[in-house]
Amino acid sequence: MALHVYNTLTREKELFEPREEGVVRMYNCGPTVYSRAHIGNLRSFLFADVLRRWLEASGYTVHQVMNITDVGHIQGDEDEGEDKLDVAARREKIDPLEIANRYAEQFLADVAALGVRAPEAYPRATEHIEGMLEIIEALLEKGHAYQVGEDVYFDVTSFPRYGALSGNRIEDLEAGARIEVRSEKRHPADFALWKSDPKHLMKWKSRFGEHGFPGWHIECSAMAIGLLGPELDIHTGGEDNVFPHHECEIAQSESWTGKPFARYWMHAKFLQVEGGKMSKSLGNVYTLADVTERGFDPRVLRYTLIRGHYRQPLNFTWEIMAESRAALEKLDELYRRLRMASEGKGASPGPEDGAELVEAAEERFREGMDDDLNVPIALSALFGLRDAVLAGSLGTVAAERGLAFVDRANDVLAVIDTAEEQPDAEIDALVKAREDARAAKDWAESDRLRDELAARGIVLQDSPQGTIWHRA
Ligand code: AMP
Ligand code: ZN
Repeated sequence: MALHVYNTLTREKELFEPREEGVVRMYNCGPTVYSRAHIGNLRSFLFADVLRRWLEASGYTVHQVMNITDVGHIQGDEDEGEDKLDVAARREKIDPLEIANRYAEQFLADVAALGVRAPEAYPRATEHIEGMLEIIEALLEKGHAYQVGEDVYFDVTSFPRYGALSGNRIEDLEAGARIEVRSEKRHPADFALWKSDPKHLMKWKSRFGEHGFPGWHIECSAMAIGLLGPELDIHTGGEDNVFPHHECEIAQSESWTGKPFARYWMHAKFLQVEGGKMSKSLGNVYTLADVTERGFDPRVLRYTLIRGHYRQPLNFTWEIMAESRAALEKLDELYRRLRMASEGKGASPGPEDGAELVEAAEERFREGMDDDLNVPIALSALFGLRDAVLAGSLGTVAAERGLAFVDRANDVLAVIDTAEEQPDAEIDALVKAREDARAAKDWAESDRLRDELAARGIVLQDSPQGTIWHRA
């Protein structure tokens, strides 16, 4: 089976075929840098990272761009209201660009700690204002946009496919429009391409006026097309981006270029915390800082956020984090035991023994990932292989192949600790002390050490080659 992905645009799982053979152009909606990214945002970014890694593992050259929004994202994703960056700048009494720089740096540090492979570019909206104005001029010229005073709006009625992505219909949007919608728009669903507001902290001079700034949607069109060309293969975001953000991106991009903007639209479902929405009032808008303060390694968060299917709701609790930590220890152990078995320790006598189990695991992993990035299936393949190696079913050659497969799998998931040095030096030392006590026939000490290890959840297996252990 080749890669199939669920396309929000067609509402179907489709065979993935990029426009150019072997090459993928992918744009991911990135963070708005007015505060530190929360774990929900991180779920979206990690989804994009796993997708990119799987595309690369499948042999594609991936041109990936993730933007950084540092202006124009109005609270509530609306056209009217305050810019998130302005609100933060006023709150912290510093320049909005300083806010943007601070949180952009924090974002880069957070995703690096989570093992995210850097895309080709992390463009910032404020560095692409000219490209946005160029598109706006062209849209005006083609009759897709209109100017009211110093503002410019996109005319949704000029784009018949408006609503195709989200399933909204222009008529329904009109009926459901809020009363306070500014009358300067011709249609309530029209959206701002360029806005003017003397009170806005970041503003650019243009032929429309002195105090302008771009709409959030035009930013992503300009950065995506500017860096990847007019026709993308994949565009991603969180489910809240479907409407209005991505719907508006399609309308303005396609009206400008006359070409289909993105072939596959992929959206990650929202992360929930303790079964509900994250909210400031509940104090559960967690960031990576909260995770590390509670003693969890960032890779435990990575595992927690990628372990579910990206289109399924995912819940976050501290208990789940503890379970993830235990699961990761088991995966680390899979790797360690494969290494040992490849050297003969705990291996089945025939070198090829269990080779078919390794093959089946790799097959299951690939099938899972090819099926719209089904990470739970891919993980189950790894846990299945762990059972086989713990049972001593793999010979040295099979174990070597298993090791190579787990390396490849981990190149995609990036959660297993494959370092040579033993992360469990303490447990190894206790196991060794027990072996020494047994050799010296000090049964009392050897029993005491076995009990201590058991209390830590360690199961011992004595074999002619020595004692090996695993977690219960
Ligand atoms: P923002 O910083 O608000 O522009 O959001 C950055 C990305 O995070 C966007 O793609 C959002 O769709 C996504 N996002 C926001 N909240 C969540 C959540 N709870 N779960 C998953 N993704 C989210
Ligand atoms: Zn975007």
